[in-house]
Amino acid sequence: MERITQQKLAIAAVLEAAESPLTPPEILSRAAKAVPHLGVATVYRALRALRKDRKIVIVEIPGEPPRYETAARGHHHHFFCNGCRKVFEVPDCAAQLAELAPPNFQVLDHEIILYGKCPECQEEQ
Ligand SMILES: [Zn+2]
Ligand SMILES: [Zn+2]
Repeated sequence: MERITQQKLAIAAVLEAAESPLTPPEILSRAAKAVPHLGVATVYRALRALRKDRKIVIVEIPGEPPRYETAARGHHHHFFCNGCRKVFEVPDCAAQLAELAPPNFQVLDHEIILYGKCPECQEEQ
């Protein structure tokens, strides 16, 4: 198998197994177990290729480094913890959001990020 293919598969597998979106350094440390001598530049190259193939999507939270997740999960949202700065999955969506748009506007998509404290960070208060 071509090396870049092997690296891409390993990185796609890491993102499929991940419980939440991951930063490139987090992806590197998890994928390095399957692909020895993996470097961060290779991770970025594989991430670009996987995005082009629509296998993964980017998760952008203002002021945070870009994170990546599998495209297989479909439409959902994220919770950002202001304490530990971790990102959590929000599987549901408020379906009536399109009604917030002014009359005669057609909503095609939306992004929601919930901010707050995860259970662990609430305990530390
Ligand atoms: Zn937290
Ligand atoms: Zn939604």
